[in-house]
Amino acid sequence: MDLFPILQELHQPGGKILLVVLDGVGGLPLEPGGPTELEAAQTPNLDRLAAESALGLLTPVHPGLAPGSGPGHLALFGYDPFRYVVGRGALSALGLGADFREGDVALRGNFATLDAEGKVVDRRAGRPSTEENQRVIAKLKEAIPRIEDVEIHFYTESEHRFLVILRGEGLGDGVTDTDPQKAGLPPLEARPLDEASRKTAHILNLLAERIRAVLRDEPRLNGALFRRASQKPRFPSFQEVYSLRAAAVASYPMYKGLAALVGMEVLPVEGEGDAHEGKLKALRENWDRYEFFYLHFKKTDAKGEDGDFLGKVREIERFDAFLPELLALKPEVLALTGDHSTPAALKAHSWHPVPLLLKAPYLRRDEAGRFTEAEALKGSLGHLRGVELMPLLLAHAGRLLKYGA
Ligand code: ZN
Repeated sequence: MDLFPILQELHQPGGKILLVVLDGVGGLPLEPGGPTELEAAQTPNLDRLAAESALGLLTPVHPGLAPGSGPGHLALFGYDPFRYVVGRGALSALGLGADFREGDVALRGNFATLDAEGKVVDRRAGRPSTEENQRVIAKLKEAIPRIEDVEIHFYTESEHRFLVILRGEGLGDGVTDTDPQKAGLPPLEARPLDEASRKTAHILNLLAERIRAVLRDEPRLNGALFRRASQKPRFPSFQEVYSLRAAAVASYPMYKGLAALVGMEVLPVEGEGDAHEGKLKALRENWDRYEFFYLHFKKTDAKGEDGDFLGKVREIERFDAFLPELLALKPEVLALTGDHSTPAALKAHSWHPVPLLLKAPYLRRDEAGRFTEAEALKGSLGHLRGVELMPLLLAHAGRLLKYGA
């Protein structure tokens, strides 16, 4: 059900909300009966906070589905991830901070190594350095500014990955990928999936040819494979649906892109990696200017993906040490959760629910003593879906009028 019209109607001014997302925070024991990452972590600050908060479990997207961070986040932002879908090309474009406009088509590109017959030898061109990628992208920018009446914009992503944006009249995003998915085959032709995307497929095939010609003397990065063509989706903004001035504090491109897509202002963050200090500075400096803050930490997910159980434990402990600074900002409503689980035991995103912590003025008594998966189950919030979180936060912030007479 689409709650947006109801939430719009019920809006009233209220308190400030801080939503903290520890990416992929949910975990699993390494062996049956053992602790999860959250249970193994020493988290005195989080434990103290949990004692005065309400806890629950949250299934980000749907039971049994291991979501990507895209649908996981959109759900936390209150956008039904089955209805509000973002293509990967579009997500990359937003994440790279590319000039990505309505009507543009973004595609993810891989540099590949092709042999003399044009067959793919290596789909990732030997995993070049990002510097080498940048050097080759500079060449392409110079040589291929446009094809016919379509502007071509290239961006380095990292290693073998780049992004291309097509800008012109009459471009659809219904085209097939050109990656053959294995070596020994030539790149595929892009084919239109609908009438509106005929021109896109045509331009893309010409582009693949032009790239081969320009890069013919390159030993490794001499071909390109394209996938996941997508246009920028148009979603209603936080301002429209919740009447919230919202800001995002995140270091990694994709999360900034997702936040921008729902109309959040993306605040600049100084520093590398999860940049705790830089994020705190961004929050402090902008605290009075917004009513909603989304604060993202990535490393919990990255360590889980690496299968690094102790690394993930350390990232949770690092967040714990940082927590008092966040609490000192005194948001009326604080929510802490994940966009999905990334158990180190699986080295991947999983379908398991994540713990949810809510600190707000009007809470019921709660038996959950720690921010862990098992304790969250004892909490007073019960078990929620990701899309149910925002209405709850709005209510706790005093931002929703009574529904119905
Ligand atoms: Zn994630």
